[in-house]
Amino acid sequence: MSTKSVRSIVSTDTFACVRCGLTVTAVGPAGARRNHCPSCLYSQHVIDRVEGGPSECGSRMAPIAIAVLRDGGWMVIHRCTRCGELTSNPICSDDNQLILMRMAVRPLAQPPFPLEAFGDL
Ligand SMILES: [Zn+2]
Ligand SMILES: [Zn+2]
Repeated sequence: MSTKSVRSIVSTDTFACVRCGLTVTAVGPAGARRNHCPSCLYSQHVIDRVEGGPSECGSRMAPIAIAVLRDGGWMVIHRCTRCGELTSNPICSDDNQLILMRMAVRPLAQPPFPLEAFGDL
């Protein structure tokens, strides 16, 4: 893939995934804007959440966890692999459900305390 062709599509509503290279439509099935790849769920650090403007970091943001909103909606938490900034974004209906489930159950599968403690309850 030549870098030229990648640059020329930036102005349209697609972007190339920073991890797997998939061409991602920036507008999800529900009409909401998406910022992460539906296949591997990686994102790119292009918006500075603290300052509110564009970020100069531009590094990969790895999906690390799921957060559940009060209305039951799921958010995916991204952490920048370079500067460590955390962001949260709503999931899309066509996001990779296997990866979402794996992130959701990970804290249950690896609790930071012994499960035997519950045996005496
Ligand atoms: Zn991807
Ligand atoms: Zn960053």
